[in-house]
Amino acid sequence: MTAALVVKNLTVSVDDKQILHGLDLEIPFGEVHAIMGPNGSGKSTLCHVLTGKDGYEVSGSALLEGQEILDLEVDERARAGLLQSFQYPTEVPGIRLNEFMMEAAEERGVSATEAARRIAAEADRFDVTRFLDRSLNDELSGGEKKRSEIFQMAVLEPKVALLDEIDSGLDIDAVKQVAGAVEEMRSPDLGVLIITHYSRILRYMTPDRIHVMIDGRIVDSGGAELAEELEKGGYDSVRDRLGLIKPESVSVPKPADFFTDTPFDI
Ligand code: ADP
Ligand code: MG
Repeated sequence: MTAALVVKNLTVSVDDKQILHGLDLEIPFGEVHAIMGPNGSGKSTLCHVLTGKDGYEVSGSALLEGQEILDLEVDERARAGLLQSFQYPTEVPGIRLNEFMMEAAEERGVSATEAARRIAAEADRFDVTRFLDRSLNDELSGGEKKRSEIFQMAVLEPKVALLDEIDSGLDIDAVKQVAGAVEEMRSPDLGVLIITHYSRILRYMTPDRIHVMIDGRIVDSGGAELAEELEKGGYDSVRDRLGLIKPESVSVPKPADFFTDTPFDI
């Protein structure tokens, strides 16, 4: 069966700096995958390039249900079924969640009747019904906001959902809530990619596959045993096992050295 998302040999550079080095990733329909990686490893760049943010030199392929998306415009990718969790201003006074979702659904060609049906059903499923009449993001806790974001994605019925920094800044109760919402999101018509640099969310959910990204490469993929290794020994454990050099241990001059060195021979 065609997978929800197949990324092949994805190479990404900005200016002369290569950020992703021939990345491969396959997410079958019905599965939840996690990309874990230290800060600066290229996780957000992967999301940006998939959703079509400009400013990157990109080569390789990304097939969404078999369709190449790398040459599509941002809105065409969204209509093809790729959705990144919503990033709207933190405070949007006056617009209620219900109205916002009706508009977002109608913009994507969903009829008002169908939008209202989906909003009611998904709000119930993600336990956000009581937020529907409230202003967007108004007074929601960190966990409630993320749950609301996942609800919003579900209403739009994407084929591939990307959730970057899924648990950043959340306390442990909120992490549990978000993990529950992602598990709830599972559907045979959807592939989910969650992205985080903390392993703690994996205590509360079970992705079908975990990929470790270091320095723009997926260096290892596995199941629960990889989550356990990350929980116990962090990325250093994976680096040690694979014989990868930690960037900090590579000799790089400190910024101050540039000032103490004589820069020019005039
Ligand atoms: P992560 O999300 O894993 O923390 P990012 O994808 O944000 O990592 O960044 C990966 C690397 O690429 C970092 O070294 C970052 O500084 C660099 N980078 C990202 N975007 C740009 C950009 N627009 N210009 C230059 N370097 C960038
Ligand atoms: Mg990031």
